[in-house]
Amino acid sequence: MNGEENSRVSFGYEDVDPAEKTRRVGAVFSGVAAKYDIMNDAMSGGMHRLWKDRFVRRVKPQPGEAILDMAGGTGDIAFRMAARGADVTVSDINQEMLDVGMERAARKASGGGMDSLVWSRQNAEELSFASRSFDAYTIAFGIRNVTRIDSALAEAHRVLKFGGRFFCLEFSTTEWPGFKEAYDLYSHQLVPRIGKVIAGDAESYRYLVESIRRFPTMPQFEQMIRDAGFVRTRVEPIMGGLVAIHSGWKT
Ligand code: SAM
Repeated sequence: MNGEENSRVSFGYEDVDPAEKTRRVGAVFSGVAAKYDIMNDAMSGGMHRLWKDRFVRRVKPQPGEAILDMAGGTGDIAFRMAARGADVTVSDINQEMLDVGMERAARKASGGGMDSLVWSRQNAEELSFASRSFDAYTIAFGIRNVTRIDSALAEAHRVLKFGGRFFCLEFSTTEWPGFKEAYDLYSHQLVPRIGKVIAGDAESYRYLVESIRRFPTMPQFEQMIRDAGFVRTRVEPIMGGLVAIHSGWKT
């Protein structure tokens, strides 16, 4: 295998060159941004809300803490953390996703707190923030879409203060017997159809399902987090690992 082949990365079940993956992931989220929130509810039966609540309980945001919500998209995680008084910067590579998030924040602002959010377009692999800027870094359902995961983890480590916490919520591989087969059938057969009916886009949702299958297993991903320099790493599987919370500390 030559160096060029080695540098190929997965886009769903395809292997593509890194620039192509970044471009195609960009197109996926630009295409689904307007329907992203309604699709999350439709695809997960509302369960993504419970997973996000649980994730934020793990993060334990404190009033006044500086938290970077990377790949923050339309703001679901950031809103929960800001409601607990944290100073949250929401970053995403995709302006359309951030625009939907800012509109949602404006609608919530009368309810209080969301006007303090900072929205910043950033590539997780190359952040413009100074080193040691944040008390915590969160990334929810984002890391599997990033082209160079190692670079994103290295950047997460760099921008955290000493004693800072890293948290990642991501789909993984469920080990519940029987459930795995049902979930496979559901995600491969039904999710693209729901995507077609609600968002008019089966292909994007096919990519999202396939990208879950190509993502490293829980132990592999935990090792990647350690390789980036984090210590006291932990994995918390949810629903047998259908979804997992990975965490680690910068010391
Ligand atoms: N965190 C939000 C949530 O839980 O609802 C959004 C998750 S959405 C499935 C994935 C997000 O990752 C998209 O908004 C996409 O633009 C973003 N993303 C993909 N690659 C990225 C990168 N290299 N840097 C920053 N964000 C990225």
